[in-house]
Amino acid sequence: MRIGFGYDSHRLVPGRRFVLGGVEIPFEKGPEGHSDADALIHAIIDAMLGALGAGDIGAHFPDTDPVWKGISSLVLLEKTLLLARQKGFFVAQVDSTVIAQAPRLAPYIEAIRAALGKALRTGGENVSVKAKTNEGMGFTGMGEGIAAFAVCLLMEIEQRETPSPNPLP
Ligand code: MG
Repeated sequence: MRIGFGYDSHRLVPGRRFVLGGVEIPFEKGPEGHSDADALIHAIIDAMLGALGAGDIGAHFPDTDPVWKGISSLVLLEKTLLLARQKGFFVAQVDSTVIAQAPRLAPYIEAIRAALGKALRTGGENVSVKAKTNEGMGFTGMGEGIAAFAVCLLMEIEQRETPSPNPLP
């Protein structure tokens, strides 16, 4: 098995959709970035790439490449999963923490877990998402930005006991 860690942050600005973990959440501001700027997915991608020893998200999906402009980060996540599969690994587990003062994320956590579990071809029960405010401190606490941390456990495909319920095409 292999373990990886990832972190991401984005500035929150008016006029952007607020997308987190592949789920759109109604809010007056959204994360600024080249793609849909989904900080949670970006942290998970970096955790997966870290586990693979395969560099970081900027190397695989550079923000200078127009191909990734405005793209759903779920697509980037699936591409990263494909890379893991090609190297002989599947995603056994993800744990994550999102830090945002607002909006309140609790009502969306289960939908986010389901979306991520589907994209990662693992059950939502294997994807943990926790949300915290920063008690008013710092850029997350002031509502200036959003941050996310993730760890990912990859396991070798040969060691899997049961076949994936949603195999890649
Ligand atoms: Mg990012």
